[in-house]
This record gives sequence, C-alpha cells and structure tokens, in this order.
Amino acid sequence: MEQRPPFRGTAWYSILESLLGQVDREPTLRAVAELACKELGAERATVFLVDRTRRLLRGTVALGTEGRPLEIPLDEDSVAGWVCLTGRAVRIDDARGDLSAFDPRLRHDDRVDRLVGYATRSLCATPLRVRGEIIGVLEALHPEPGRFSAQDAERLEDLGAVAGLVLHVAGLYQDIKDLREVERRKSDFIDLLAHEIKEPIAAVQMLADFAMEMEQDPAERHRLLARIVLRARQVTALVNELLEVSRVKRGLVLGEVRPVDLTELAAAAARGMEDLAERRAVTVRLELDRATPPARIDDGLAPYVFSNLLSNAIKYTDGGGTVRLCVRPEAEGALIEVFDTGIGVPPGELRHLFREFYRASNARSRGVDGTGLGLVAVKEIVERYGGRIGVDSTLGKGSRFWVWLPAGRDGD
Ligand code: ADP
Repeated sequence: MEQRPPFRGTAWYSILESLLGQVDREPTLRAVAELACKELGAERATVFLVDRTRRLLRGTVALGTEGRPLEIPLDEDSVAGWVCLTGRAVRIDDARGDLSAFDPRLRHDDRVDRLVGYATRSLCATPLRVRGEIIGVLEALHPEPGRFSAQDAERLEDLGAVAGLVLHVAGLYQDIKDLREVERRKSDFIDLLAHEIKEPIAAVQMLADFAMEMEQDPAERHRLLARIVLRARQVTALVNELLEVSRVKRGLVLGEVRPVDLTELAAAAARGMEDLAERRAVTVRLELDRATPPARIDDGLAPYVFSNLLSNAIKYTDGGGTVRLCVRPEAEGALIEVFDTGIGVPPGELRHLFREFYRASNARSRGVDGTGLGLVAVKEIVERYGGRIGVDSTLGKGSRFWVWLPAGRDGD
C-alpha cells in the first residue's frame, strides 16, 4: 500500500502554520501575499479588499509596491474587479493580449500598472471569501508572459480558500476580543456604580442614625434631614442618568419626534439649573437668537442635551466663573454652544470624552461627582437626529461644547 507522506512538514502545513500564527487581519493578508509569491514564483502579490459602500477595491497589501495607496473602482473593467464581481478565479498568460476569451467585459486595466509603476504580463487572481461572502481578491503578478501554470492557478485558489478560513478565524477571534472588552467595561461599570451608590447610601444610613438620636435637638435634626435629602437626590440623579443612557442606547423614543424650538429648550434648561448655579456661585448667561430654525428631534430626549451640557459646564467651573449658553442659526441648522470658564480638559484626553464611563483625570482628581455617561447619551441623541457634537478646551481656562442639529420643519 502506498505510504502517504505525513502532513506535517509539507508546504501546506507550513502555510497553515504561518497563517494561523497571525490573528490580525493585516499581518494575515501580508502572510498570504508572501506565500503567493513564494508558491507561484510571482514577483509581486496584491490583496485587494472590497469597500462596497464606496464601490472600491483597496490594495491593502501590495508586496513590492509598499507605501502606495492603491484604490480602483469596483467594476468589471479591471481583473480584480471582475474576479470580485463574478466570484471566478482567472489565469492570464499575457495581460497585454486579448482578454475577451475570458469575458468580453474583461480588460487589463493598466491604470493599476501606471499607479504602481509595474508592467504586469502574467497574472493569476482568485476571490477571497469569508463565510461565503467575497471580501477581496488575491493577485499574483509577474512582468514576463506565460509564467504561471494551471497548477499555479490552482495553488493560488487553494491559498485564497485557506486565507478565507484563516480570516474567518481571525474575525471570530476579534469578536471574542471585542466581547471581552465589553465585558471588562461592564464589570468596571458595575464596580463604579456600586461605589457611586454605596457611598451616598452609607451616608444616608449614618445621617439617619444620628437624626434618630437627635430628638431633643430639632435644629440639628433638621440639618441632618436636609443632608439626607441631598444625598438621596444624588443617588436618584445617578439612577436617572443610567436609565436615560439605557433608553437612549436602546433607541427608544421618549416623547414625540417633531420640530422643536431649541431656544425655548435652552431657556427652560437654564431655569432648571438655577439652583445648581447658585450653589456653585456660577453665573449663567443666555444668548438666544430667535431666528434659529427648529430641529426635528424627540422632544422627550432633547431637553437632556441642554441639561447635560449646561450642568457639566456649571459642575466643572469654579465659583465666580461664567457659563454662556448660545443658540443661533448655522449652516441649514442650529448651533448650540456652551462656553465655560472652568477647569478645561487635558489636551490628550479630549478625544476620549464621548466614550462610556470616561472621566478626565482633572475631573476625577477634583472629586466632582459624575458617571462619565452623560456625554455618551448626548452624542447618541444628537447623531440619531442627524447632528454633530464637538468640544474645544484649554486646560485651566475653559471649554466650549457645541452641538449642531439640522433644521427640520413639519413635513420634512
Ligand atoms: P460626568 O460629568 O458625569 O462625569 P459626562 O459624560 O457628562 O460625565 O462627561 C464626561 C467627562 O467630560 C467628565 O467627567 C469631565 O471629565 C469632562 N467634561 C464634561 N464637560 C466638561 C466641562 N464643561 N469642562 C471640563 N470637563 C468636562
């Protein structure tokens, strides 16, 4: 009986080994391209990945032409485009010859050659499939005609199939990594939440114990009760914020989606913050341009945008500071700006502010209460209704948070 050679030690084993050693997409594709060159004796190899939204093929790995961005339209005019759209592999002996035997639509697109400064003559290309879906094309190239045999073409197809499997595994691995990250953030959040809730509740308990002992001293008893109410309010605020974020995240509509007058909301938010501003000795000024167009937005959620930005501005500004809430028309929409003269944000941390649970180091170190959830919710709301949000800030001097919402009238 014929003895089969052991699989280990074969070229395919080393292909699998080197591919499975890579779990990230980019190095995997690089390993695929390197193997294509080695296995087929190709001079260059390119992996195109498809971007269906922009109808493009992007040369993600182009061995031999590194550093040059390679983008071609996703159409049947180019070999890579044809392979991607038809799902068929192809071997071409002379790219400059007549390609109509394969398909009348197919022609060698020398835009790619010109882009990378390379004159391709021999070419093998195969689709890359992940879970049955074509995600790109693997090409092996040579500047001389007739360099690839039918066997080479088959090897490239096999390599493409193996690469697809490896990318599938890499995708699953990434999913697991993402899930782990979500899990980690969830448990961080639960820790934080437990801490945030435990502390005021323990305080309430202690104050209540004292209050019970203060029957003989109504003034002291009253003072303790007032502190209990304050602490209880903090817990309620935290829980409300959590509920708000969770509602926003689930995409629920709280009120009615209709054209909303943003200047009215701004004025109402400022009225709602009078107590907080007074307690913190921060002056709040309103600058409302009544010509501001309304925005079509959930009228149950919209107030949250104002109250969050305004309460942050007051919270993160020291006594004697000023907060300005401005609403005016801007570029077919409305611009809401909240300026403050507060603590600002350290420059490296600005881009993290809209991430769940993120609190800037200067906010945490000052012991200002917070959950790092408010801006996440504001961003979700604003973006859901076609708007944008941003911030500029100077550490120690102040910040400007802005929101732009598109104008939306009845019938839009
Ligand atoms: P919270 O204020 O509850 O921590 P937010 O999501 O509203 O959560 O804000 C996230 C972080 O952004 C804050 O913890 C703080 O570090 C920073 N931040 C928000 N608004 C301001 C502001 N006006 N000035 C300085 N820092 C701010």
